[in-house]
Amino acid sequence: MADYIYTMEIRLTPDQLKGVSLVQDIARSAGMNVYLTGGAIRDIISGFTIRDLDFTVQGNPLKLQKEVERAGAQVSAADEDARTVFLALPGNVRAEISMARTEKYEKTGKPPLVFPATIHEDLRRRDFSVNAMALSLNEGSRGLLLDPFNGVADIEAKLIRILHNYSFLEDPSRLIRATRFAARFHWPIEERTQARYEAAKEGNYIDHILRTSVGHEIAALAHEDDPLNVVKMLEKEGWLKVLHPHWTTAKVDANGLAHLMKTRQQMVDLGYAPDAGPAVMHFLTARLSDKDIADLRKQIPRKDLVDAWRDIEDHAKELAKRLMGKEAATPSRTWQLLSGARPEMILFLAVTARQQAVDQKIKNFLTKWRQVQQKIPLPEMTELLITPQLPEYPKIAQDVFMLLLDGKLRSRTETLKFLKPFAPPPPPPPPAPKRGRGKAAAADAAVAAGKKGNVKKGDVAKGKGKIAPAPAPPAPAMPAQAKPEVKSKPANAVQSTRHATKSVAKHPPKKAPPKKAEAKAKAKEKNKR
Ligand code: ATP
Ligand code: MG
Repeated sequence: MADYIYTMEIRLTPDQLKGVSLVQDIARSAGMNVYLTGGAIRDIISGFTIRDLDFTVQGNPLKLQKEVERAGAQVSAADEDARTVFLALPGNVRAEISMARTEKYEKTGKPPLVFPATIHEDLRRRDFSVNAMALSLNEGSRGLLLDPFNGVADIEAKLIRILHNYSFLEDPSRLIRATRFAARFHWPIEERTQARYEAAKEGNYIDHILRTSVGHEIAALAHEDDPLNVVKMLEKEGWLKVLHPHWTTAKVDANGLAHLMKTRQQMVDLGYAPDAGPAVMHFLTARLSDKDIADLRKQIPRKDLVDAWRDIEDHAKELAKRLMGKEAATPSRTWQLLSGARPEMILFLAVTARQQAVDQKIKNFLTKWRQVQQKIPLPEMTELLITPQLPEYPKIAQDVFMLLLDGKLRSRTETLKFLKPFAPPPPPPPPAPKRGRGKAAAADAAVAAGKKGNVKKGDVAKGKGKIAPAPAPPAPAMPAQAKPEVKSKPANAVQSTRHATKSVAKHPPKKAPPKKAEAKAKAKEKNKR
């Protein structure tokens, strides 16, 4: 049987995994059974990007809000009717926790009646077989996959299949969802599902779509990897105008969008995790009127997305202004500034910057300046014992990088000259091998050596007085021109700068070889014999 916990662990990002633990622990302590469900399971099994985490609890997730906030998550929206909480977990991880429920559709176009239910019942109200699976995160059954509609088989067959014949009638937003998933995965719609889909189209079921579902589907576009392709498919099927009557592919800034997605990938490859959602919405609606955009925003349930989309241009302008000012007068200062900026803003500005200087600085930050990191002479630094084990290492590496960026260290020789004063003293030679009654001799030696320090024989046995720490050598003075004005980390090249303020004087303590004491002990031994 497949080990789904293992699959989950290797497929989720470290931040997503932490998010799973966070929600799992909070639900457990509240006494609620919790499952990872929906698209998260589909994507874990199919190998596609896992864009958000869907949790289902047996109980009311609204009660968990305070706890999740205390654990560092932000609640971006809460749907009291559907008992669903939308979260931004630490590290830009989108998630939602919904109540396991059954839905009763009484009237077309009216929201269903919702009842708390078991996870098994909950899976039956879902849209497609590939989305109707749950992975238990509960003690005793953790890792158990519930797959009542054979979703795994449909993932293998790459098919989108509804769970029953009334699916599109009950919730016409599933027509849009089916098109969206077909466009995203390039999976066909299963034959009988396709027949129901066509019948639903003929019967204009879509006229009964709920406003909340429209908002959900608008927001979903923000997180597609190829949003233009999805929008084109929605338009072809007649669903884009359902999301907004004036929305067409002609209203999309296709070039801007393509540039955005390319830059996003470039940033991901460099280890950033920008949330492209707000910028995607900006380009998808670039040629819509302000009023139409305001209409679209009003329907989106996640207010964090709406706010970020609304503010993106202003925030980018602020960053552009700073990049034109004193704060970014040198490459090293620009590096500092951009290292501290939100990756979302860098991404957006990379595509939209009007000033050539700003554009160039961002380009350098993402490409040319990273190559400067290769000029840091790591092998020579290792030879000089300037290694990550030194507490001051991050600061030294940081300083070298900044100086290289600004062209203040122009050759390897200059760089090594700068580095040499930071080299710690070499470690002491290994202690001479002990022979015979070495322990006693060493103890006597230590007593002799440690007279001032009150070392007793018993202490030596406990390992107390073995090494007499030498006083730390004086701090090597930093070359005046090398004193950095800046402190943030050059990504990839060096470690965290958390210790950057620590004094460079802190070298590891030197072992004092207890030579005299050893000789004395040997003489004593001789006399005894
Ligand atoms: P995505 O990768 O876009 O997030 P998803 O399948 O996870 O896709 P969500 O909108 O996050 O979609 O919804 C989570 C889960 O909730 C879905 O997988 C599905 O099981 C269920 N769901 C969402 N919308 C509907 C719906 N209209 N009808 C039935 N089930 C739905
Ligand atoms: Mg999802």
